[in-house]
Amino acid sequence: MSTQCPYCDLCTDRSTLHAHLAEEHGDRLAFSWHERSGYAIATVTCPICGASWDQPLRKARRDPRFLDEFAYEIRLVLFDLLLHHIRGEHEKGR
Ligand SMILES: [Zn+2]
Ligand SMILES: [Zn+2]
Repeated sequence: MSTQCPYCDLCTDRSTLHAHLAEEHGDRLAFSWHERSGYAIATVTCPICGASWDQPLRKARRDPRFLDEFAYEIRLVLFDLLLHHIRGEHEKGR
């Protein structure tokens, strides 16, 4: 069973697509800083329905370099949420 990439025409198995999203579409994630706590927050938005999920990055506290060092892992976590959502909400009847 294959899944289509929500951002391009690629259609492949889930684990390949997961890596593809992290490598090619990392710029689709939004990063922001939570002023009060000092945590970084990564946000992924579903391009199909606009639902979004925030992932607080507690380890990023007061360390902007964290985002560079762990960017790939952060992407994997967030795109996992997105893939799970797409499979559950947007692939019914396929
Ligand atoms: Zn893609
Ligand atoms: Zn959606």
